[in-house]
Amino acid sequence: MLAAKFLAQAICAVVDKEMTRRCFSPCDTDPCENQSQDGSSFAAPCLGAKRHPVAVELTPDKPHEACGIVAVCGHPEAAKLTYLGLYALQHRGQESAGIATIHEGRMHVHKGSGLVADVFDEAALRRLPGSVAIGHVRYSTTGSSLETNAQPLVANYRGGALAVAHNGNITNAANIREELEQRGAIFQSSTDTEVLIHLVAQAATADFDEALFMALVRLRGAYSMLVLHPERLVAVKDPRGFRPLCFGKLGNAYVMASESCALDIMNAEYLRELAPGEMLTYRDGELLATRPFPPAEPAFCVFEYIYFSRPDSLAQSRSIYEYRERLGQQLAEEHPAEADVVIAVPDSSIPAAIGYARRSGIPYAMGLIRSHYVGRTFIEPDQAIRDFGARIKYNAVRSVLEDKRVVVVDDSIVRGTTSRKIVNMLRAAGAREIHMRISAPPWRNPCYFGIDTPRRERLIAATAGDVETIRQFIGCDTLGFLSLEGLLKVVPRTQQYCTACFTGDYPPGQAPTGEFTKQILE
Ligand code: SF4
Repeated sequence: MLAAKFLAQAICAVVDKEMTRRCFSPCDTDPCENQSQDGSSFAAPCLGAKRHPVAVELTPDKPHEACGIVAVCGHPEAAKLTYLGLYALQHRGQESAGIATIHEGRMHVHKGSGLVADVFDEAALRRLPGSVAIGHVRYSTTGSSLETNAQPLVANYRGGALAVAHNGNITNAANIREELEQRGAIFQSSTDTEVLIHLVAQAATADFDEALFMALVRLRGAYSMLVLHPERLVAVKDPRGFRPLCFGKLGNAYVMASESCALDIMNAEYLRELAPGEMLTYRDGELLATRPFPPAEPAFCVFEYIYFSRPDSLAQSRSIYEYRERLGQQLAEEHPAEADVVIAVPDSSIPAAIGYARRSGIPYAMGLIRSHYVGRTFIEPDQAIRDFGARIKYNAVRSVLEDKRVVVVDDSIVRGTTSRKIVNMLRAAGAREIHMRISAPPWRNPCYFGIDTPRRERLIAATAGDVETIRQFIGCDTLGFLSLEGLLKVVPRTQQYCTACFTGDYPPGQAPTGEFTKQILE
C-alpha cells in the first residue's frame, strides 16, 4: 500500500471557480489536507496515491510582481496611450486589466480578467473618451483574482465620481475596513485599495484635495497610486516610496507609469521618478508637485533592481539592465567558480549571467532556452512526465552543456523546487558540474508591500537554515548567494532601500500587526 503510494506521483489540484489553486502534495484526502489555511499555497512536491487533473504553474517558484499603473493627462487619445502603457507593464500583472477616463465630467471604465490584449479591443477603447485616463494591470497581493477586484476601482460619492489604480499593499487595510464597516460602509471588493475610496467619501470635508490627504495619512504600507476625479488626476507615492512610479512628457501631455518602459512605448520623454511621499496633481493642463506628508525614512524595494522591473526600464535615470549586469559582476567576485561556461535561467537572469561571465572571464552561452508561448495547461500527472512544468518552460541545450562545468545564474530562490528541476535538467543534458549562483541574498521573509510571496515556512532559505542544506535540496555541486553588502554596493547609493525579505527588518510601523494573508479581506 505504502509502496503503491510512493510509486504513484500524485499531484492534487484544488480548483475553485475564480482561480486555479494548485497543490503538490500527498493526497489521500479531498480537499487536500496540505492546502495552507488561507487556501493560497501548498506543500512542496511529494508523493501520494491519488490522481487528479493538475494545473501546472508554468512560472513557478518566483515572487510574483505587484501591479502596474499608467496615467495619461491632457492627450486626445488618452485611453489608447494608456492601453499601450499597460501593454508594456504586462509583466507586472496578468490577472486583470482596466482603464478609466473622464469626459465632460463623466467617468467611463472598462476592465476585466485576463491580459491587456484580451480585455481590450478597438470597440472597448472607443468607448473610453476623454483626454485624461488611468490604467491598471493586476496581480493580486490582497484579495483573490476576482473580476470585482479588477482595477481601476470606480465609485460615486457626494463629491462625484472617483477611480483608483493602486500598486502596493496597504498593511492596515483590515483594521480600517473593520472600523468603516462598523460605521455602515458596504464594500464591493476584497481589495485593500477600496478602503481609500471609503475614507475619501467619509472625510469630514467637501474639499477633495483635503479629503484625499486625510485618507492617505491613515494608510500604512505601500502605495503608488493614481486617483482620477472629474476635475483632476492625482499621482502619489507613499512616504517610504516602496514601489516605483515615474513621470514624463508627451508633447503638452503628461504621462505617469510604474516603469519607464511604459513611457518608451508611447514615445514619451522620461523626466524622473517621483520622490517618496511626492504628490503630482494634474488640473486644467497644469502639473503641480507637492510633498504633503511628514518626512519618513525612504524604503524603495531593492528587488525592483534584482528582478521585478523590466531590464529596459530606468532607475535613477540609468538602465536596470546595467545594475543587473553589475550584480552579476559582484556575484563573480564573491563566489568565483572553476567552470567552462556561464549560463542564465532565462529571461530575467540574463544580464546578471552576462555580468558574471564578463568579470570571471568564463564564456557566456545560452544553455537554457525559455519558451515564450506557455501559459497554464492541464495534464494528468504521471511519473513519466515528472518535472513537466519546468520542462515545458525551459529546455536545455545539450551542445552547450555536455561534459562542461557549468555556472548557472538565477536571480532568486523561493521554494527551491524549480532550481532543483533545472539542476536535474542540466545534468540530464550532460553537464559535468553545476555551480549555481544567485544574484540576490537568500529570501527568508515574506513581503507585505505588494509582492506575493509564500508564507515564511514555504521559503527554503527560511526553513533550511544554511546554504549547504539548500544546496543539498537543489542538488547542485556548489551554491553561492550575493551578499546583502554586495547588493547594496551595486544599487544607487542616492536611495535608501527596503531589504526586509532578506533581513526581516521591516520599515518601522509598516508591517501588519497580526496575521496577514492575501485573502485577509474576504
Ligand atoms: S520585502 Fe523585499 S520584495 Fe518586499 S518591498 Fe521589501 S525588498 Fe521589496
